[in-house]
Formats: sequence, C-alpha cells, structure tokens
Amino acid sequence: MADCLFCAIVAGDIPATKVYEDEHVVAFNDLNPQAPTHVLVVPREHFVDLADLGRDPAAAGGFVAGIRGFAAQAGLTDFRTVFNTGAGVGQSVFHVHAHVLAGRSFDWPPG
Ligand code: 5GP
Ligand code: ZN
Repeated sequence: MADCLFCAIVAGDIPATKVYEDEHVVAFNDLNPQAPTHVLVVPREHFVDLADLGRDPAAAGGFVAGIRGFAAQAGLTDFRTVFNTGAGVGQSVFHVHAHVLAGRSFDWPPG
C-alpha cells in the first residue's frame, strides 16, 4: 500500500534490521526497543490492524504461524505479544504488527 511505512520495509525500500522472513511475514527489530528482544512481526500483505486482519482467516493463520516461526528460530519459549489496535491505545503505524518482547520480566496487568 502506498505511503505505508511497514509495506516499504517489507519491500526493502526503507531499511530495517530484518531478523526473520517467511512466505507470510517479515520480522524486524523495533527502532525504539522496550526489551532486550523487541521485534515487530508484520504480514507481507497490508492490513490496517488486528480487526482488519481477522476478516481474512487464512491470512490471520499465516501471520500467527509466522510469529511462531520467528519465536522458534530465536529460541524464545517465553515472550509477550502486544497488538495495539487503534490510536486510542497507542497504535501509531497502521499496518498490523505484533510486538514480540522478551528478555526481561513483564508486569501483569500491562500498563
Ligand atoms: P505501534 O505504536 O503502532 O503499536 O508500534 C509501532 C512501532 O513501530 C513502535 O514501537 C516504533 O518504535 C516502531 N517504529 C516506528 N517507525 C519505525 C521504523 O522506521 N523502523 C522500525 N524498525 N520501527 C519503527
Ligand atoms: Zn502496509
């Protein structure tokens, strides 16, 4: 999609430190990491947010498989996934992405 930061990263038009790729997803380090591991996993195809992605169960399944693939490759058994859906809860890039965080302790409930 034109003017989408994460579509541009998927296409290689904007640089990012990619740490995992498969047929469904691209994963890259967050520019402003909040944990020792802070990776953004994005579907190759453009969806605005989790609610939009959920309209396409096949794409949603591939996306979840991609999150699993990254975690397995990274050797992560314990990790937190965060989806911000909507500007009101902090979504700032409107191409759905899982924040995958690991390597420190995490509070519950989240802030
Ligand atoms: P959101 O706020 O939408 O849930 O998450 C967007 C994330 O994208 C933020 O954690 C932010 O640090 C990250 N981010 C914003 N711009 C860039 C960029 O150009 N490159 C990378 N690698 N991450 C970015
Ligand atoms: Zn996009």
